[in-house]
Amino acid sequence: MHRRTKIICTIGPASSNEPCIRDLVKEGMNVARINFSHCGYDEALERIKILRGVRSSMGVPLAIMLDTKGPEVRMFGYAKPVELKKGEDIYVESTELAPDAVAPFPPEQRHFYTNLPRLNTLCQPGSRVLLQDGSIELEVTQIHNAAPGALSMRVMNDGVIKPRTHLAIPGAHYPIPFMSEKDKKDIRFAVENRFEYIALSFVRTAGDIAEVRELVRAADKDWPIKLIAKIEDKQALANLDDIIKDSDGIMVARGDLGIELPIEHLPNLQKTIVRRCYLAGKPVIVATQMLESMTENTYPTRAEVTDVANAVHEQTSAVMLSGETAQGAHPRRVVNMMGRIVDRTEAGIDYRTLARITHEYVARGEITNIIAYGVVNTAHDWNARAIAVVTASGIGARALSKFRPGVPIYAFTHLEALYHQLSLNWGVYPHLIENPENMRFSEVARRIMDVLKEKGALENGDRMVFMASSPFGKRLPTNTVRYEVAGDDSFHDET
Ligand code: PEP
Repeated sequence: MHRRTKIICTIGPASSNEPCIRDLVKEGMNVARINFSHCGYDEALERIKILRGVRSSMGVPLAIMLDTKGPEVRMFGYAKPVELKKGEDIYVESTELAPDAVAPFPPEQRHFYTNLPRLNTLCQPGSRVLLQDGSIELEVTQIHNAAPGALSMRVMNDGVIKPRTHLAIPGAHYPIPFMSEKDKKDIRFAVENRFEYIALSFVRTAGDIAEVRELVRAADKDWPIKLIAKIEDKQALANLDDIIKDSDGIMVARGDLGIELPIEHLPNLQKTIVRRCYLAGKPVIVATQMLESMTENTYPTRAEVTDVANAVHEQTSAVMLSGETAQGAHPRRVVNMMGRIVDRTEAGIDYRTLARITHEYVARGEITNIIAYGVVNTAHDWNARAIAVVTASGIGARALSKFRPGVPIYAFTHLEALYHQLSLNWGVYPHLIENPENMRFSEVARRIMDVLKEKGALENGDRMVFMASSPFGKRLPTNTVRYEVAGDDSFHDET
């Protein structure tokens, strides 16, 4: 059985050792994510070293992704936790003080600070404000317009807030830069250390992605790092199509999205984002709390199992594990469980029909798309066991993946970065080959079949549809399709 939906594991204290990383790869990890909200440079370097060692000794593609912390909106003022009671009032004022500043008022006065400038301009009396990932809700009762701007708010439920707690004003456009200085440093670190992906927290416009591309180019114009835009708020949703167009992929970051928007909006939003991405040929990741209860428990809840299956039915490219593998008690078990749910769900999907329906919605006019659909249809109708593509840009592989074929897409490239990057794409199995430039088409086809036979993906008599641009190495659009039968040299002459 080949698994089409990819699995991303967040690597943290529970999984940052070689035996565990090996186990995660054996269970099906395709992308390793390092979350820079919780990781310093030395730790990250140690993790990358282990990840690279494992992927090379096991001979598997495995992309490494840095996830930026993003801008932080904090409420602070006290060095110790403060207990808030339902019905009491608090006062929060904008400040330029650092988040470790202590207010010159006793905690009973409930006078807090926030690094959000002009707080008075961001909401109305009656607006909802959330603290600590939504666990405490406040309602704005009064706006104070005198500089620097402040709000009085009523506490809607009991809770204890930690120092420097996260503050959110759902739906507001925060007047702070999309990248912090730390994010910029982390992005340079990702490029210099040859990560394959950066997941960008709180992208709000296509311009934000352009800004990062500039930074990446300045760090190393030759490293082809790919940028995943995390969709986390209302502004990103309003600019979704432009963000999809200008990024290399999307993450449905359900954690923050569920704070910035009413949580009941999440299921429909997820469905829409996933669909728009795969029709655009961009990889899409469904993230956060997929098997959350397995952070501690050995078994998931029924609702979690259905959530993973639902993402697979929606045709997401990848499902992501966060705390479950980063600091959970059973990292291997949780990936195994995720793989089992994915496999079982995929087995119930009719990919032939899906490809036909998808075709109706995919933009026409691009020759690679047109040929890719022909290849997918042929592979289904001819009962091919493999689709192969030779690619130096990934475009051909992504075009095939867009139609979500039932037949595996084996993508052959001589570029190591692309080889690892393609491990995120739905249904794509990347392989490294020597540079095919100046090779004959028939020779490359034969080599590909040899590799696939050696891996057990093809047997003599099996059919393969092979798509590429010819001659190799000229970066031409897709222009050639060949039909091959493994072990049957009489099927073609030497062209
Ligand atoms: C999220 O908000 O869902 C997410 C993936 O981002 P992070 O884990 O960095 O908060």
